Amino acid sequence: MRRLFYPGELAEEIEITGGDAHHLTRVMRARIGDEVVIAAADGRIARMQVREVVHDVVRLCLAEELPKEGEGAAEVFLVQALLKGEKMELVVQKAVELGAAAVCPIETENVVVRYDAKKAAAKTARWQKIADEAAKQCGRNALMRVEDIAPLPSLLQDTELFNASGTAILFCYEAEEKQSMRMVLRTLQARRIVLIVGAEGGFSPAEAERIRAMGGQPVSLGRRILRAETAAITALAVTQYELGNLDL
Ligand code: SAM
Repeated sequence: MRRLFYPGELAEEIEITGGDAHHLTRVMRARIGDEVVIAAADGRIARMQVREVVHDVVRLCLAEELPKEGEGAAEVFLVQALLKGEKMELVVQKAVELGAAAVCPIETENVVVRYDAKKAAAKTARWQKIADEAAKQCGRNALMRVEDIAPLPSLLQDTELFNASGTAILFCYEAEEKQSMRMVLRTLQARRIVLIVGAEGGFSPAEAERIRAMGGQPVSLGRRILRAETAAITALAVTQYELGNLDL
């Protein structure tokens, strides 16, 4: 069925305007009486019927509200240290495909790239655009948020992200010698999993200590040192696999 993101809250009746209305009527060729799946900005999803088309305004009415994507399963956040150029874009795109709830880009001691405020805003906007396009392409029901770039110490103080009950923080650490990611994932009972992955230069010992002190459990992805983007995509994939978020 045709699927569209709606930038407002779900209601009994909604109006699609502008480019989305054009896309719906001209590209998707929706006609009166046709049904489309609407993924609203408030995270609700519904089957809606086209009631009226006037110029570039399409009026839809609610047919049936659908269960939210992954409802019941734990949500996964990726905290990713800034990566050079296209690597960050790749990670954002794959995070969408793998069903992450959000990507939080962070600045750490060893990042290779640093942005001033203007460049940082432009980068975040570009990553969000990439995320929105990937969400449409892969048929997700909800958009993935790309948060503003934050220095690691400020992010660690984000109590909403780290201290919410049922949150597990897994810190991908190439120097970890005791616990593998698989071991930890198999014993977890969490409603939210926050994965932390370093930049090309990894984390400094002080940063690793700080993450541990915030409750981050260091986990290994094996004896080989993976490139940062490989580590991020692998960590997300195996987490989603263990949570059952790759099941049908
Ligand atoms: N500079 C580090 C070094 O040479 O030892 C390597 C950093 S690695 C390229 C980038 C990030 O990927 C790390 O900070 C970590 O988060 C993750 N990573 C890479 N290999 C890993 C592994 N085997 N286990 C856990 N995390 C890993």
